[in-house]
Formats: sequence, structure tokens, C-alpha cells
Amino acid sequence: MRELGLINGRLVDMNENVVTMEDRGHQFGDGVYEVTKVYNGKCFALRPHLDRLYQSLRAIRIPATYTFEELVQFHEALIKESGITEGSIYLQITRGAAPRVHPFPEQVVPCLTMSIRPSGPVKQELRDNGVKIILIPDERWLRCDIKSLNLLSNVLGKQQAKEAGCYEAVMVRDGSVTEGTSSNFFVVKDGVIWTHPATNLILKGVTRTILLERLAKELDLTILEKAFDVSFVKGASEAFLSGTSTEIMPVISIDGKLVNDGVVGPITRKLQAAYTQLIDEECGRN
Ligand code: PLP
Repeated sequence: MRELGLINGRLVDMNENVVTMEDRGHQFGDGVYEVTKVYNGKCFALRPHLDRLYQSLRAIRIPATYTFEELVQFHEALIKESGITEGSIYLQITRGAAPRVHPFPEQVVPCLTMSIRPSGPVKQELRDNGVKIILIPDERWLRCDIKSLNLLSNVLGKQQAKEAGCYEAVMVRDGSVTEGTSSNFFVVKDGVIWTHPATNLILKGVTRTILLERLAKELDLTILEKAFDVSFVKGASEAFLSGTSTEIMPVISIDGKLVNDGVVGPITRKLQAAYTQLIDEECGRN
């Protein structure tokens, strides 16, 4: 088993220097990315991740130079050649290499890099007992729906959470609670689940969509895609995060105040169990 990289379709050693200094991803963060989880040697929810990748590319006007089938093949090759059965695959597409000026180059040759690394299951202790979060101002741009390589605000926010001894920082813009730095955010009030609508102000998470369109329906739970404020959050009976790496993560403390006396609530538990079951089914895990 070994970590493995890929550049423009060619498998490479993870330590090989493959990206040039003039790559616009390096110079400007001019690119987009995706991350998918590998369970039992299979990519989970690869189709919606790739659909979103094409949307992100369109949004920032990078031409798509790989077909859906090719990208699936690259994911499969990374799994097969690395021998990694439990891991994460990162994929970045940048606007390629060009002398450093802001406008697009005349001839754009996008650069695709991918990598696979092992990643264990989400820590059982956190899954079971939940995590603490802080609320911070959302200082990002207004196209948070694009999965852009520009993650400066997210990086600073996550570091702030870490320094506060918390798992995640959830952002607040103009009074509305938007999402985490690398996750979507949900609260439960009076038995109804609330989450920010999928506008330009959040990333429409693949996990969020699975939760809304599949798990909540199967479990007969009501989800509202509607903005809510900080006082609403502080009065919630449950809160949780969703994301590819985060899966469904209970939140038990917000800005130092316990949610539901620090006990993970029943709706979060049901969704967690249903999500795990879906992974088991889709990836043939026992
Ligand atoms: N929101 C942000 C800002 C993210 O970076 C992520 C994941 O990286 C998510 C939400 C969750 O999205 P997904 O469920 O597709 O992983």
C-alpha cells in the first residue's frame, strides 16, 4: 500500500515534483477541486462529485478536457495501483501554466492533479460523543457554491477553531448561519431539521444532498432549506455537520454553550446510522 499521485492521466510517485512554478493554481489559486472517500476499495458518491466538478469548471470558465469516464478511470487506477482500500482521493484542476498575469492565457491547457492517501474511519469517539464548534464571521467571497482552490478564509477559520479547542468553525454572514469551513451545518428545532439553502453563499455538499434527498426521505424526517440566525442556533435541540470527510458529525457545544445538555440527539443518531448503512450498501462493506 502506498500513497500515489497522478498528473494529467499519468500515475506518479507522491514525492515527484510535477507542478511547475508558473501553474495558475499555485500563483492565483486559479482552479477547482473535489475530494471523494474510498471505502472498501470503492469511491463513494463519485458521480455527484464529478457532476459538481464540471459545474465548478464551468463557473470559472476552465475548459473540461477529461470526460466523465476518464475521470472515473483515474480514480479506479489510483485505488488499484496504490492498494489503498480506505482513503481519500483529492483532485485539482487548474487553469494550467502561464506567465504570471491575471487575465486567462490565450491557450489554456488545464492541469489535472490527483492523489490518494489512506484515511481511517472518522474517530469513533467524535462520532459517538460529538464535537465542539465556534461561530465566526463569514469573510469569504460571494461564490461559495464553487469548490474553488481559494480556501484562505476556510483555512484561517479552521485554525481559529483548532486554537479554540474545537473541531470546526461555522460561519455567519449578515446574521445568517451559513456553513462550516469544510462542512455543511444543520440544526434541529421542534423536530424539524434546518439548513442554509443551497445559494451562492454555501457549497452544495454532496453529503448534504444525500441527506436531504435520500436519508431524510427514507427516515421520514422534515428538512427545511431556510436561513436561520445565531439565536435560533443557540435554541436548537440538536446540531450536526455533514461532509465527505466529516460524514455526519454531531455538535454538542457551540461557542462554549452545550446543545441538548451535551447529549447527541435522536435525529442526528438516526441520520448517522442511515449514512453508514448507505456507505455499506454502495461500497459493499459488511
Ligand atoms: N462546505 C464546505 C465549505 C466544504 O469545503 C465542504 C467539503 O469540503 C462541504 C461544505 C461539504 O461538502 P461535501 O459533502 O461535498 O464534502
